[in-house]
Amino acid sequence: MTDPINIINLDAQPTKIVSLQPKEVLDIRFWPTDICNFNCTYCFPGSKDAVYRYPKNIETVIKNFNLLFDLYKDKHNKQKFNINLVGGGEPTMWPHFKKFCDGIRQHHDVELKVTTNGSRSLRWWEQNGLSVDKVTLSVHHEFADIDHTIKVLDFLHSSGTICTALVLMDAEYFDKCKGIIDRFQESKYPWFIEAKPIVDFEGKDSLSYTEEQKQYMKQDLKRIPDSDFVLNNMHLFRSHDSIAVYKDETIEPKRTSDYINSDTNYYKDWNCNVALENLVIIFDGTVTGSCNAELFKDYNINLFAEDFEEKFNKASFNLSTIKCPFGKCSCQPDTHITKWKF
Ligand code: SF4
Ligand code: SF4
Repeated sequence: MTDPINIINLDAQPTKIVSLQPKEVLDIRFWPTDICNFNCTYCFPGSKDAVYRYPKNIETVIKNFNLLFDLYKDKHNKQKFNINLVGGGEPTMWPHFKKFCDGIRQHHDVELKVTTNGSRSLRWWEQNGLSVDKVTLSVHHEFADIDHTIKVLDFLHSSGTICTALVLMDAEYFDKCKGIIDRFQESKYPWFIEAKPIVDFEGKDSLSYTEEQKQYMKQDLKRIPDSDFVLNNMHLFRSHDSIAVYKDETIEPKRTSDYINSDTNYYKDWNCNVALENLVIIFDGTVTGSCNAELFKDYNINLFAEDFEEKFNKASFNLSTIKCPFGKCSCQPDTHITKWKF
């Protein structure tokens, strides 16, 4: 593995990143299952081992989520909770997917998104897909059925769901991935199409791309919906996710992908607001920071536990800024979290 110190261009690196996520929003990525029906070469290790499978006690899970929301409301003034049901693991394989989506909105303002490989049948999408507000369909060239993917996205878009096809651009099969984007551009309905680099798999990571490939991905949005859709959904078109502040006090608006594409996403020991902006609920129910950073020192906060309410200790939630424990900030949602060099 290449030493980050040799890669990073310190002059090109900001000294502070300020998230544009509204202060009253808590973003949560929830991995409900570690079961997946694909086997992508570049899958992150441990993402689909079927060790934990999925939570079955759905009423308890919803009740515990609500306790967490109440606490963030009281202590950190959060009013809105954006949940992204995501993998590794394929979230639509969770048998309680719809029950969770319908139940979790009852007491709080919750926006739901699913990030999926889209492989469930069209019938499944017709019965379950409209329980979420947004769908990001990750397109993995080794396993995706492109005709089926187009049918699913056409159905969801025409039903009013905000959809994106996120094509994973495998450096080794770059032309094949570009061909998929070309096919998508001919679909009946104009859902979003985005080209996404693979960032964290050795041999298929951000260093694997040629200059020409990087240039292609620099403009990651390959299609946006029609003008009526744009006019009716202006709130979706925040063109930047954060503001980067530099040593000489200049500032620059950024999309999350900019940090990864420019190899400036190394923040070890920086101060980071991950606990106040973005959480992750992993397969076994543990709550961590978005990048898996440990947040709770005294108590293992587990949202699947039957005794969560009984053991719930508000003092464990004296959350504040943490020191980044990692060499690299690789996930797109993590790169725009507020952080600064001391
Ligand atoms: S779809 Fe996602 S979780 Fe499943 S094998 Fe591919 S990368 Fe891994
Ligand atoms: S890796 Fe985690 S702790 Fe480090 S900067 Fe990124 S979000 Fe913050």
